[in-house]
Amino acid sequence: PSAPLYSPARVRQLLTQHGLRPTKSLGQNFLIDGNILRAIAEAGLSGGPAQGTPVLEIGPGLGVLTREIATRGAQVTALEKDEKLRPVLAETLAGLDVQVVWGDALDFDYASLPPGTRVVANLPYYITGVLLSRFMHAPAIVSATVLVQKEVGQRLASKPGDDNYGFLSALAALYGSVRHVRDVPKGAFFPAPDVTSSVIRLDFDRSAPLPPRELLKFIESALGHRRKTLRNNLRMIGHQGAAIDAALEALGLRPDVRAEDVPLDTLRDLAGRLGVLG
Ligand code: SAM
Repeated sequence: PSAPLYSPARVRQLLTQHGLRPTKSLGQNFLIDGNILRAIAEAGLSGGPAQGTPVLEIGPGLGVLTREIATRGAQVTALEKDEKLRPVLAETLAGLDVQVVWGDALDFDYASLPPGTRVVANLPYYITGVLLSRFMHAPAIVSATVLVQKEVGQRLASKPGDDNYGFLSALAALYGSVRHVRDVPKGAFFPAPDVTSSVIRLDFDRSAPLPPRELLKFIESALGHRRKTLRNNLRMIGHQGAAIDAALEALGLRPDVRAEDVPLDTLRDLAGRLGVLG
């Protein structure tokens, strides 16, 4: 056939032919822009040989991004929840070395992935945050190149003191580094989503030990209630006022400092002083 698979005409035709409509509750916004597809695949596979690299894709949908990755030689596992897409993927991925796993990405065992796995995906936006934290906690995953809402991309890349700095930003910094690859306009999708998107690449530092669970919980609670003081948030999780005051003072922090203005290393020191790290 003449037009590429991702062209708006082919995408509509594929859906009609299989009697399907994009399901909003599953975050189905399909990519229809070849330049964006190539940019995601390239950013996801750069920095190593594509040939044989294990890639995990969440939500292959109609298979357009999957094809883009698989034709570059990567070993793709594609995890899709919507079983109605079975006949579509059988058609669009025919002849390619792709393993489609039917199931929910929230139930997937990320520990079963081969070491060195890269995630490349146009994520279902309703579960972006949970999925990103699953990727971070899975030592086999070395990077995640994902399409997310622009606002989530900004949060991921924020530093302490920035407007939208929060737990997700802290997590990203704890596990590695974040790069903004490019913005993606609404028109690159069918149907068009409500907001602009961004391609983000997260690289995880797997030589460092995973942060202890206690530290993650501490940081999450500290950053939990924005606009409240750090002192107040720590009181809420049971720390004594006097102990907090002493620790803040020892670290040169004002008693009314807010957690989102405190550097991560200082929060870690604070956790240590409050006996959180055992
Ligand atoms: N990769 C395709 C593309 O770029 O055109 C589709 C991306 S679409 C934004 C998100 C995909 O994730 C859909 O195919 C949807 O069915 C799938 N999905 C939604 N929730 C899921 C879940 N919990 N587990 C696995 N896949 C899911």
